[in-house]
Amino acid sequence: MNDELRNADAGSAQDSESVDFIRAIIKDDIAAGRNGGRVHTRFPPEPNGYLHIGHAKSIVLNSSIAREFGGKFNLRFDDTNPEKEDVEYVESIKEDMRWLGADWEDREFYASDYFDQLYAWAQHLVREGKAYVCSLNEQEIREYRGTVTEPGRPSPDRDRPAAESLDLLERMKQGEFPEGAYTLRAKIDMAHPNMKMRDPLLYRIRHIRHHRTGDTWHIYPMYDFAHGQSDAIEGITHSICTLEFEVNRPLYDWFIENLPVPHKPRQIEFARLNLTYTVMSKRKLLQLVTEGHVTGWDDPRMPTISGLRRLGYTASSIRTFCDRIGVAKRDSTVDLDLLKWAIREEMNRTAPRVMAVLRPLKVVITNYPEDAEEMIACVNNPEDPSAGTRDVPFCRELWIERDDFREEAPRKFFRLKPGAEVRLKHAYFITCDEVIKDPDTGEVVELRCTYDPETRGGDAPDGRKVRGTLHWVSARHAVTAEVRLYDNLFREPFPEEGGSFLDNLNPDSLEVIPDAKLEPSLAGVGPGYRCQFLRLGYFCVDGKDSRPGAPVFNRTVTLKDTWAKLEAKGKAG
Ligand code: ATP
Ligand code: MG
Repeated sequence: MNDELRNADAGSAQDSESVDFIRAIIKDDIAAGRNGGRVHTRFPPEPNGYLHIGHAKSIVLNSSIAREFGGKFNLRFDDTNPEKEDVEYVESIKEDMRWLGADWEDREFYASDYFDQLYAWAQHLVREGKAYVCSLNEQEIREYRGTVTEPGRPSPDRDRPAAESLDLLERMKQGEFPEGAYTLRAKIDMAHPNMKMRDPLLYRIRHIRHHRTGDTWHIYPMYDFAHGQSDAIEGITHSICTLEFEVNRPLYDWFIENLPVPHKPRQIEFARLNLTYTVMSKRKLLQLVTEGHVTGWDDPRMPTISGLRRLGYTASSIRTFCDRIGVAKRDSTVDLDLLKWAIREEMNRTAPRVMAVLRPLKVVITNYPEDAEEMIACVNNPEDPSAGTRDVPFCRELWIERDDFREEAPRKFFRLKPGAEVRLKHAYFITCDEVIKDPDTGEVVELRCTYDPETRGGDAPDGRKVRGTLHWVSARHAVTAEVRLYDNLFREPFPEEGGSFLDNLNPDSLEVIPDAKLEPSLAGVGPGYRCQFLRLGYFCVDGKDSRPGAPVFNRTVTLKDTWAKLEAKGKAG
């Protein structure tokens, strides 16, 4: 295992041989013959935002469990809150899930499809004396509920006759009352130590159009009343959810026990994924979007699936990441570097190497003929011999990286400096003879160098060595393109600690280079094309802002991880 993995706070990382606690439970259930040996999982997003890397963890977990146990996997939208939901989100969620490789076959469901059934079940509870229509307002309900140390007080409507509640409920449904006039509440226990059990709300009045049911409904079920029953309707065997729902479990079980549901799902909670340098809550991500701190949900700096995709992440690297972090019962924070490791490791194996110069400085090879040019065969991927070579043109005028030259260079600066010799990758040794400056500003504008024709391919026949190897691009053939260099969106590893997360935004999270110089083989590449710019990192052509013949390159990840540096500073691990 590599260092980053060892150091990363994966907390729960599983050995590939060992089985995590969720799979262990499922194996037991199968062995005990529960559900007739069936395994059926689901991913239940609320369509109120784009999916993020935390959702990916849940999708990968639920869909792979179904696959591993020969079971089924559903997609179900828990669309009970029309205020915040939108078809745009439904579509993006499906697109992202498909891209991740999750397969729900034809089982795309919506809690709103069950509104009639849920309503019938609500009536059932009323008839059984287990629910009532309450006229307390929101504020009063809160006051009556009590606190963790004091029991609550019963609503004055708690003993309303069932017939009266049924009538009011029906009229609430028909839209007869203003919002807030009434709610439907379960009649459980106002002194229950678990506050969720103190006569929780089942329905509230909302005169809002729903993106699927239109104006049919004037009451909407609470998430808690819809979620577990929807699982029951779908025959979900294992309702896997995140830890914050542990306190809801007694309530979910109460519904299942007190309703004539066709099936009883088992809820299992696991720790949600948190990542350093990242906020994960949809509310906060939405705020980043609406306040313009990023360009949209799919901004490559966002931890959304669509953002990561634009940045250049592959679905397989995200799945690898999800598998590596495993599942845990206690909350922890995974180091962002572990996610970066997953894509870097994959691109190291698969990405062709090409040359691009981000901050160009002109080099003129004075002993190379003016009109001549030649093709140099360059290895596409040293990690993958089958990737072959490509021809890259070389001529008298080249671009090199401005950083690769220093006029006043320290002794250990092995790149180009006056009088020094370096290797141009795959090409020749060159020596810097003269530095041309702008007479007004003193800025270095050109280097005049000579090349050694005997060193073609990058080696000297006399065996002399050079320490520095620079990438380069032929000026005559270069393709100019925009390159975007991204850094973490937040400066702090825990951006939500101490004040607002917005105070911790990294002002340098994006640097745009409008006129990088690329080798000509990149002229025709299109969206989603991935490569390594030698010495600069792994890049991917942006799927949104690129135009035919004008690719925009996003840096997906740098070449080296930061662990080595952190460790040197004594900060790691
Ligand atoms: P957020 O808290 O970001 O608004 P959410 O949990 O409310 O997200 P849902 O649409 O309800 O968003 O989530 C769908 C599923 O994804 C749920 O089963 C939830 O438990 C799971 N999920 C959400 N966030 C994470 C996370 N960070 N790690 C793992 N699973 C998650
Ligand atoms: Mg949720």
